[in-house]
Parts: sequence; C-alpha cells; structure tokens
Amino acid sequence: MIKLYDKYFSPFIQASEIDGIVSQMAAKIHADFKDETPVFIAVLNGAFMFTSDFLKKYPGECEVSFIKLASYEGTSSAGKVKQLLGLNQDLEGRSVIVLEDIIDTGNTLEEIAGIFSEQKLKQLKIATLFFKPEVYNKQVPIDYIGREIPNKFIVGYGLDYDGLGRNLPEVYQLKEKKMINLVL
Ligand code: 5GP
Repeated sequence: MIKLYDKYFSPFIQASEIDGIVSQMAAKIHADFKDETPVFIAVLNGAFMFTSDFLKKYPGECEVSFIKLASYEGTSSAGKVKQLLGLNQDLEGRSVIVLEDIIDTGNTLEEIAGIFSEQKLKQLKIATLFFKPEVYNKQVPIDYIGREIPNKFIVGYGLDYDGLGRNLPEVYQLKEKKMINLVL
C-alpha cells in the first residue's frame, strides 16, 4: 500500500502486466498500419509513460506528436472554449492515432475528436491504455483498448493524484474508506 497526501492506494496492476498489455497494443496497431506511416498523437500529461513504452515496442515507421487540451474563456456567449496546444503539424491525408492514458466519461476524448474532425485526415483512430466502460457515455468509437477497469480512481504509470504518483511504474487503486456503523 502507498500513501499520497491523505489518501491510501493499493497495488492494482503490476508493471509486468502493463508491459504485456502495451506490447499487445503495439503489435495490433502495427498489424493494422504496417503499410503506411501513421502519426501517433499522445495526450499529455498522463499518456507520457504509455507513449514512451508503446513507441519503443512499435516496430514500424511512424511519427509522434504531443498535445495538451487547454480551456480558455472564449469571447462568445458559449463561455469556455477548448483548444489543443501543440498541434502545429499539417495532418491532411494522414492516418492519426490518438494515444490516451485513460478514458473515463469520454469528455476529453469527445473534445479532441471534435477538433480533429475539422481537419482533412485520412482516418482518426483512438487508442487508450485504460478504459472505464461503466462511466463512458459518448458516441466516439474507441478502436484499441489496453485494459478495461472498474470505475475506481487509479494512479501510477503516468496517472497522478494531484500531481503525485506519475512516476510509479505500476498502477494503484484508491482504497475506499470502510464505513463503520456504530450502534449505540
Ligand atoms: P474523461 O474526460 O474521459 O472523463 O477523463 C479523462 C481524463 O481524466 C484523463 O485523461 C485523466 O487525466 C483523468 N482521469 C480519469 N480517470 C482517472 C483515474 O482513475 N485516475 C487518474 N489519475 N486520472 C483520471
């Protein structure tokens, strides 16, 4: 068990299992894209460790870019506007594969997919290391899923709790506090 700030986390997915999952994803995606040069687009910050390991295992020719989703106050009445930072490459006619660390509700993914839909890509595919099917409520198809997990907060392997835990080589799950009913 580990403690980050005030919360306790129990071991959930070992580094060796993550390694196997990432290897399988690299092999599967390569089988689909071996005849072309795809552009992998990693979503920072969480996907940095997954992306690094994934690319070392990807045996084919590819390019890689990093993006970050930022929100700013727009001048329109719509209020908050989402903007992709780091997307300064011409992707017209290219096969783009977004690399995500985790997809939860799908809000982030929907924003990203919406922004890419304005570009004339050959195709857009989504790959995520972790996926919480119980909470996903969007229509965007997810093409490659490393592992489905229950709807519990996890840290490690790039994922943080308030800035901590990203450097852990394995994944931990938030330990729920047991409710103790005192009968007086
Ligand atoms: P969504 O927009 O799909 O609800 O959430 C996506 C983002 O929320 C992820 O990229 C990640 O930053 C964060 N997130 C969702 N679930 C978890 C989790 O279990 N642990 C951590 N550390 N971050 C999460």
